[in-house]
Amino acid sequence: MNLRRNAMLREMGLGPLWKLRRAAEPTPVAPPEASAAPVAAGAGATAESRGAAIAQMDWPQLQRSVVDCRACGLCQARQQTVFGVGDLNPDWLFVGEGPGAEEDRKGEPFVGQAGKLLDAMLAALDLDRRQKVYIANTVKCRPPGNRTPEPDEIAACWPYLARQIDLLAPKLIVALGKPAAQTLLAREVKIGAERGKLHAYRGIPVIVTYHPAYLLRNLTDKAKSWEDLCFARSTLAKMGNLQ
Ligand code: URA
Ligand code: SF4
Repeated sequence: MNLRRNAMLREMGLGPLWKLRRAAEPTPVAPPEASAAPVAAGAGATAESRGAAIAQMDWPQLQRSVVDCRACGLCQARQQTVFGVGDLNPDWLFVGEGPGAEEDRKGEPFVGQAGKLLDAMLAALDLDRRQKVYIANTVKCRPPGNRTPEPDEIAACWPYLARQIDLLAPKLIVALGKPAAQTLLAREVKIGAERGKLHAYRGIPVIVTYHPAYLLRNLTDKAKSWEDLCFARSTLAKMGNLQ
């Protein structure tokens, strides 16, 4: 274990005792049958054609489209949209919930307190947010007061995340928290029940774990989250893509 990893594990409150270790064998879970896209209530032809247009966009078009987006109410209070950050040819895609105050100010995901913890977790895996990793959210605009995004807001923003996933083609996706897990798996999810299992989105392995903001309030679950990341890492290794 190198010094940097020890320092990061200490920052996570885990001490240097946490080691990368082989995770339990994955429990296979059938991927969702139909398209994983949540459909907005009352979404008609307009939402469909918007989704179809987004599904054709290249990366710069997608970025421009998000900057100008007013497809849901979250556009009203945002300072700016938060598209995502990282390597455009990633092994790992981390999907969070939505921007908070700091992210809304800076235009980058996970730059506040939860982001510091996420960075520490990445460093413990010898990763960082700009190499082999991409970080995005289920919604690109900050929900006022950091509330959980509503299903219709997540549904409105879903075509962007879906297209990001298509274009990034990550080898593995880590869903951070319930909204991300539910969006990717297109069903109700309890993190405690679904962690430790190998899920899939369109053939891409999906691993669900606690959101870093939750971990900041529930320190004892940090160890479980670390287990989940080790499970993700061993899943990648088995795919022949060790980091
Ligand atoms: N929480 C999230 O889910 N995403 C961010 O970008 C920041 C905090
Ligand atoms: Fe558009 Fe997504 Fe922002 Fe809603 S949250 S306005 S769908 S970019």
